[in-house]
Amino acid sequence: MAQDQDRIRISFEQVRQLAERPLLRCGISREHADAMVDAVSLAEADDAKSHGLYRILGCVEAVRSGKVDPGARPEVVPTSGAVVRIDAKGGFALHPLRVGRPLLAEKAKQFGIAALAVNNCYHFSALWADIEPLAEQGLVALSCTIGAYNVALAGGSTPAFGTNPFAFAFPRGTGRTPFVFDLSSSVVAKGEIELRRRAGESLPPGWAVDSQGAPTTSPEEALKGAILPFGGHKGAALGLMVELLAGPLIGDLRSAEAFTADPKDAGPLRGGYLMLAIDPGHFAGGEGKLDAADAWLTSLAEQHRPARLPGTRRHAARRRSMAEGVLVSRPLHDQLLELC
Ligand code: NDP
Repeated sequence: MAQDQDRIRISFEQVRQLAERPLLRCGISREHADAMVDAVSLAEADDAKSHGLYRILGCVEAVRSGKVDPGARPEVVPTSGAVVRIDAKGGFALHPLRVGRPLLAEKAKQFGIAALAVNNCYHFSALWADIEPLAEQGLVALSCTIGAYNVALAGGSTPAFGTNPFAFAFPRGTGRTPFVFDLSSSVVAKGEIELRRRAGESLPPGWAVDSQGAPTTSPEEALKGAILPFGGHKGAALGLMVELLAGPLIGDLRSAEAFTADPKDAGPLRGGYLMLAIDPGHFAGGEGKLDAADAWLTSLAEQHRPARLPGTRRHAARRRSMAEGVLVSRPLHDQLLELC
């Protein structure tokens, strides 16, 4: 176990144990814990720290406050056609998504395109982990959900919508890592600002405004004010689209409504989640076009260095973590051990 002052290197299996013990200890059911451990450990290994082990703290808080039902049993709501609906019954989102994903894949293969809506859930993790399994089985996937109600409109100074992440995954053939991007509608996810606050670091300029609408580099002031949308009005438009798709479209809350109803513990907001799956086999592309797309992505990565494709940093970090172990924040490691 290699160590430095601020970080500790542990095996992937130890990361999983570090995530699992506090979840089970606070009463989260085995099914929920399994899905949560998978997502959080993989994010830690992928060096996506804002949605890694640190999220366990908020999940435990959300159970302790009574907000999230730790043993909620997701219910598949009867539907027809290419729509799958799941009522998460006020539990975490990852177990319901695990229940719904095979049903979604089945319908996508049957109809060419299908949608999965999960209602009344608490989603706290990175979206790529939800859709990569679909691309690994040859499907194109998109997903979105509402995030923390902290993001201003372009030119605005107070929150108007959530950090609202949106993810896309495209298959690259058997045994190949899919093309995946996953981004919040804000300049950064709220978790990144919280991590900077914990580390006593200031924010880069252009991330946030304070409660008076003035630009700030203070994480504390940013959390009282608003995070800016990425790319100005373009990111704001994407954030509004996500808000409509994962909220009103599927009969669920907008982030402002979820924020108002929230007891303000450290956990995620209650809300909805929308995932789409597309089977390329139903469209004109066919295997040849998909192989050509794969070759095109490879050539882009090779010919445009030092530019890179989204997902490559994360997947490289995963390979490194699996071979050498995962570097984990020492204070967080110790805090999670105490939670056990
Ligand atoms: P980033 O800005 O870090 O990254 C967004 C995407 O862009 C990633 O796919 C990333 O790939 C890619 N990327 C980053 N830098 C480059 C580059 N230089 N060249 C090419 N591609 C690049 O993510 P965000 O801060 O916006 O979001 C972080 C996470 O937060 C997401 O996983 C999101 O799902 C999650 N989130 C979850 C919420 C929830 O409620 N569940 C709410 C809000 C956010 P790579 O990973 O390889 O760097």
